[in-house]
Amino acid sequence: MHTNPPSDVGNAATFIAEIYGQDVFNMETMRNYLPRPVYKKLLATIRKDEKLDPDIANEVAQAMMTWALEKGASHYTHWFQPLNGSTAEKHDSFVDVDPEGNLELKFSGKSLVQGEPDASSFPSGGLRATFEARGYTAWDPTSPAFIKRTENGATLCIPTAFCSYKGQALDKKTPLLRSMTAVTRQAKRLLSCFGGPDNIHVSADLGAEQEYFLVDKQLYALRPDLMMCGRTLFGNVPPKHQQMEDHYFGSIKDRVLEFMVDVDEALWKLGIPAKTRHNEVAPGQFEIAPIFESQNLAVDHNMLVMEVLRKTANKHDMVCLLHEKPFSGMNGSGKHNNWSLSAPGYGSLLNPGSSPQENAIFLTLLCATIKAVDEHADLLRASVAKSGNEHRLGAHEAPPAIISIFLGDLLDEIIEQIEKGGTKKARTQKTINIGVDTLPMFPLDASDRNRTSPFAFTGNKFEFRAVGSSQTCAWPMTVLNTIVAESLDEICTILEPVKDKPEEFHATLNKLLQNIIKKHKRILFSGDGYGEAWVEEAERRNLPNIPGTIEALAALETPKAKALFEKYKVVSPVELHARHEIQTEIFHKEINIEAETALLMVETLYIPAVTEQLTQLTTAIAQMKASGIKAGMKATTDRANQIGTLLDILPGQVRELRRAVDEADTRAIQTGMDNLRSTIDMLESLTDADLWPVPTYAELLFL
Ligand code: ADP
Ligand code: MG
Repeated sequence: MHTNPPSDVGNAATFIAEIYGQDVFNMETMRNYLPRPVYKKLLATIRKDEKLDPDIANEVAQAMMTWALEKGASHYTHWFQPLNGSTAEKHDSFVDVDPEGNLELKFSGKSLVQGEPDASSFPSGGLRATFEARGYTAWDPTSPAFIKRTENGATLCIPTAFCSYKGQALDKKTPLLRSMTAVTRQAKRLLSCFGGPDNIHVSADLGAEQEYFLVDKQLYALRPDLMMCGRTLFGNVPPKHQQMEDHYFGSIKDRVLEFMVDVDEALWKLGIPAKTRHNEVAPGQFEIAPIFESQNLAVDHNMLVMEVLRKTANKHDMVCLLHEKPFSGMNGSGKHNNWSLSAPGYGSLLNPGSSPQENAIFLTLLCATIKAVDEHADLLRASVAKSGNEHRLGAHEAPPAIISIFLGDLLDEIIEQIEKGGTKKARTQKTINIGVDTLPMFPLDASDRNRTSPFAFTGNKFEFRAVGSSQTCAWPMTVLNTIVAESLDEICTILEPVKDKPEEFHATLNKLLQNIIKKHKRILFSGDGYGEAWVEEAERRNLPNIPGTIEALAALETPKAKALFEKYKVVSPVELHARHEIQTEIFHKEINIEAETALLMVETLYIPAVTEQLTQLTTAIAQMKASGIKAGMKATTDRANQIGTLLDILPGQVRELRRAVDEADTRAIQTGMDNLRSTIDMLESLTDADLWPVPTYAELLFL
């Protein structure tokens, strides 16, 4: 099946054109397989956010099945994203029998539109009791069906939302869709305040950059910590790792490049616009980024990207680590979420644009975002709270656990002007006098880079960088959409009454933006986000700094959060509470698994290895004594003593950690793991390489 693209450009063009989207039931396929009127109705559903006409479901299902069978798919599944952050599927074949027992291939509109997987084993956070375990999946026609392949078969996957019997969202997709509706509705109001057309389609977009590590499969299999927890619980950083920054953007090794070529091919077949691939900062670390899309699609696609990375790595005898911090002391992995709103005729609404009107829309949305992020920094922080990310955030080489916004020099200056009432002229620009008269005009490329900011403006989008590499983008995007919806709502409510009185409108807008900046400028920070000085400065500014997952998740339980999500119909208080429960539970489970794995490794791998080392040393010492040779005696005895002393510490540390686990004492578990690690890591540097029971960082990182 596998065909490598020939290397000359002409043929690569044919190759890409041939495979791109070949496994997707996309617009073109729909047009080919559906009767014209049905196609048009479906298109309206997808494009104009209209409700699906139930009458066409049968015909769509029939067409999908015909296409899927031709593609070799014998089964279909509703593909959904339960609250544990993964994707789920339950396969049904197209096989049916008529009353006479003859084979019939069948896929009804009903089976397309609604499914009923046995939902009892998915987390619901109390949204449904086990006795009413039914959950329903409902077809989401805005994300196209696709085909997933294995070596010997294929399955038609139908993206769906997943709800309880009472209609409560049991998944990550439903709130995302609701939040997209909320924010685009408010953005339409904004455009209309600036004389935009009434029925414009605003799109909420996302481009997700995905970082990951690759390790050799055989070495991986020798590390229980990587296998159970996705990260190393022990291990010393090798003398050379990322100091030279020679890995970043360096030439990609053949073994990895071959993997990347296969990844791109698999993604293109799924219609995922994979764009960039490169090395990242740490050795063994890489990044892939597709072109941005509507968030709904981008979230589905990112879930598939992670799956394709894992499966393709496996074929290449490697393992793809998506954990936020597989190796301590080195760069962690994030998933930069590039967020923007766009509309036909405007492009990105976060693009400064070329007309005063567009500049004014841009500045208003910019200020709305500043206000939203400041007012709900706690919710953004909570949206990226998970145990893996806790090791990454604030670890001095990742965005800190303090949420702040980076705008860049030019925008900083403009913001300053607006704060002062927009009268002063910008350094290089003239003040504009049409449209929104006192707002400054500025050139397009207003972006510069600050890698240390968790939330940075990058030209025509905001980049939320605190999102963890293994996370689904769905919830962080849901939160961002919702808080910006609220902010825009408040702004539009003030602007709408004066919308038809140009002078009053301009004065109101200027005052409004000025007030927003005065009130929320504390969230703006252009300095080094990794430095200790920022922690102190943030404290002076009264910005929340929440390193711990449990403390961060508490933001979901506040009356402020409940009111916000309820008002914009994104999640009800009960649904929100369920999410808090589930995230908390996942956190506890994860650190318990880590602690158990650490104990297992210490007791069954490290202690025996170190004991063996000590035995060898004492045997050597005895032989030296017997033979009367004194040279080397001191060094050997010293080393044996050092090892012995550390070895003696271990039983106490093991007991402490065991106690912490038994008492479910989170803090003590974390401290216990740190203590155990520091002893083991010291022992690593005192033990013969060939006696050490697991592959070292150096072996794992330099593929
Ligand atoms: P980097 O942050 O590494 O410089 P890029 O500027 O290439 O990377 O952008 C990274 C991601 O941002 C890509 O997925 C890209 O498609 C996406 N992106 C670009 N413009 C927008 C936009 N207006 N809205 C959302 N995402 C965007
Ligand atoms: Mg980026």
